[in-house]
Amino acid sequence: MASVEFKNVCKKYGDVEAVVEANWLCEDREFFSILGPSGCGKSSSLRMIAGLEEITAGEIRFDDEIVNHLAPRDRNIAMVFENWALYPNMTVFDNIAFPLQVRELPSSEVDKKVRRAMQFLNLEHLENSGVRGLSGGEKQRIAIGRAIVRDPSVLIMDEPISHLDAGLRSRMRDELKSQVSELGVTTLYITHDQVESMAMADRIAIMNLGRIQQVGTPLDIYHNPRNEFVAGFIGEPPMNFADCELVAENGKFLAKSSSFEIAITGENEQALKDYKGTTKLRLGVRPESTMLVPQSGAGTVSAVVDFVEHQGDRSFVTVKLSNGEIFLVEAESGVELEINENVNVKLEEEYTHYFDAENGLNILFLDEEHD
Ligand code: ADP
Ligand code: MG
Repeated sequence: MASVEFKNVCKKYGDVEAVVEANWLCEDREFFSILGPSGCGKSSSLRMIAGLEEITAGEIRFDDEIVNHLAPRDRNIAMVFENWALYPNMTVFDNIAFPLQVRELPSSEVDKKVRRAMQFLNLEHLENSGVRGLSGGEKQRIAIGRAIVRDPSVLIMDEPISHLDAGLRSRMRDELKSQVSELGVTTLYITHDQVESMAMADRIAIMNLGRIQQVGTPLDIYHNPRNEFVAGFIGEPPMNFADCELVAENGKFLAKSSSFEIAITGENEQALKDYKGTTKLRLGVRPESTMLVPQSGAGTVSAVVDFVEHQGDRSFVTVKLSNGEIFLVEAESGVELEINENVNVKLEEEYTHYFDAENGLNILFLDEEHD
């Protein structure tokens, strides 16, 4: 086992900056996810860790050792990819044994290691079966078996379940997570799917356009996003945003637009004071932190109903603010509303965020690491 660390790691392909000064540390035995939209630099990061791609600048360390110039075979990394890449004409046993056989290990040792992996992954009854016709879950367990049979220091998974349909994916998520935590191996899990990262990872590094946006636990990132990108990327349905300005009225601060006046109180007043008189503010609030209320008032947003979607256990109401901005509001199951009906949306103050409209930074961000 080993920790994996990026120190100012950069990757350029000609003029394309795929990874820009990335810094993060995945602890020994941690389940660490690299998350971000397509093209943000996830696979480039993975390939540098595995030694399949030159590092343009910076250092990658396994524990205290700099591995920049180590050959792939000397890094002791195992990888599981999206397509699992099993050999269709081999048995389950031989698929798992393959990496040991190519290393020409004595057959008694191969046998011992493969049996241990099969026992752990509940595959013993399939030892002599071919892999054709096995279920997705079984194939995934075989792919993991083949990856771990060499006792890797680091297990890397690149979108291993992204191609499955939703129901199966959610079951696989649970299964994968429990297998990997029992193994106790350092795991880097790469995905574009925030639901997967949130459900499985101990900590997440979120990337966009080659840059690390934030590193933290799922709850940390959900409640305390560093910037507007992270706030909008994490959470389903996504956070609502609205432009506003900060005005002072009767000695109080208000976040104001043509659709709302939200009082700023307590610590937020101090944090936001430099924005007084500017229009550089973006308010952000998640659908689950909003509700419809009968009365308008301080802290409510006036809007008209655009669309209602019933999901059974709850409903989501799409409303339009007077300047055309759209909010999604979580409402009680089966809520009855007419299209174009006037409504008042109350925002939970504790869960309302304010972003700098120019650089996207969360003005109320709590930098716990540096406090
Ligand atoms: P992700 O895995 O997050 O989708 P990648 O690491 O594959 O992202 O790609 C990051 C960026 O680098 C993208 O703009 C991609 O087009 C570019 N890129 C990736 N591989 C190469 C390559 N071999 N040559 C040139 N550009 C590349
Ligand atoms: Mg990729």
